Amino acid sequence: MKEYNIAILPGDGIGSEVMTEAKKVLDKISIKYDTKFNYNHGIVGGAAIDSIGEPLPDKTLKICENADAILFGSIGGPKWDDLPKGKDPVWGALLPLRKHFEFFANLRPAICFKSLANASPIKSEIIGDGFDFLVVRELTGGIYFGEKKLEETSAYDIMKYTKSEIIRIAKVAFEAAMKRNKHVTCVDKSNVLSSSVLFRKFVIEVSKDYPDVKLDFLYIDNATMQIIKRPRDFDVFVTTNMFGDILSDESGMIAGSIGMLPSASINEKGFGMYEPSGGSAPDIAGMGIANPIAQILSAAMMLKYSFGMNDASNDIENAVQTVLEKGYRTGDIMEVGKTKVNTKEIGDLISEEI
Ligand code: NAD
Repeated sequence: MKEYNIAILPGDGIGSEVMTEAKKVLDKISIKYDTKFNYNHGIVGGAAIDSIGEPLPDKTLKICENADAILFGSIGGPKWDDLPKGKDPVWGALLPLRKHFEFFANLRPAICFKSLANASPIKSEIIGDGFDFLVVRELTGGIYFGEKKLEETSAYDIMKYTKSEIIRIAKVAFEAAMKRNKHVTCVDKSNVLSSSVLFRKFVIEVSKDYPDVKLDFLYIDNATMQIIKRPRDFDVFVTTNMFGDILSDESGMIAGSIGMLPSASINEKGFGMYEPSGGSAPDIAGMGIANPIAQILSAAMMLKYSFGMNDASNDIENAVQTVLEKGYRTGDIMEVGKTKVNTKEIGDLISEEI
């Protein structure tokens, strides 16, 4: 029997509620595919601050280092967001985790199932049979990690990229495109920013190794418009850290709900951390109404990208689609004529389909 160690880091807010449902689904997969998943739980973020006074305890880091993959919930909330930078959940745990494991690539699929077309703010004639594109975001460089300074009356943040950083993220995007519809759109701001000129230059260089993949370009401001106007025209976007942050949230919105969107952060060894694209949703935490689909689909991505369990991963995606087609909806994607269910109920329905 195959065995995998999974570091389970539910985090804060809705994290533990949606993680319970993802584990429920993984338990079904474990039986169906005769595979053992060992769950090793770690505290992180606000929960860890409250418990031992730091957002990323050594013990949690060790659990992650000894795992085959990390399944992460989400962290943060009003209680901790005003702590000094580095002592707070995001700067003190999420970004250090990404840096520690050199998760330089963030993969965020934006899928609008046909059955959820009404939950999207985009007109149904634009959505058609639905859309499915992937935002490949550079995650460890750029403006979020560049030199920064905040003074009384002035401030700056440096956006720097190097050739090697660009080449490795471009390769991830082209490899993904080879498995999809062979189309990469490079998103930058090369009409204004030097870092974008370099980004575009080395994306073009990498594209020469992928003659079957069509490459085109959009400036970030135009990209935010084109995604809304013609989402079905895109396959894989490759972009920098900050522009990817913006594009993936916009994609979340047009896909119906941020509660539907998984993401994967991967390093050069293929080790990955899988988490919902959204945050800890403090406004609905503890109410049992969060949409667990992003967490469940994050587990599906983990099976595909870290464990090579493509069939199992597809089973989960199909189960999600079937449950939606049968008309079940959590509050965030609810529409007239559908059956409203809570976090646990939709988790049960999805695992029953498997
Ligand atoms: P958010 O994604 O938590 O919430 C935005 C809106 O989307 C809220 O109305 C929320 O209820 C809704 N939403 C999010 N996920 C949902 C789900 N699964 N089901 C139903 N509705 C859902 O973003 P925010 O409010 O900007 O941030 C809240 C906290 O999360 C902050 O502390 C922020 O720092 C943190 N955060 C953490 C991560 C992470 O852990 N990766 C990412 C983003 C934000």
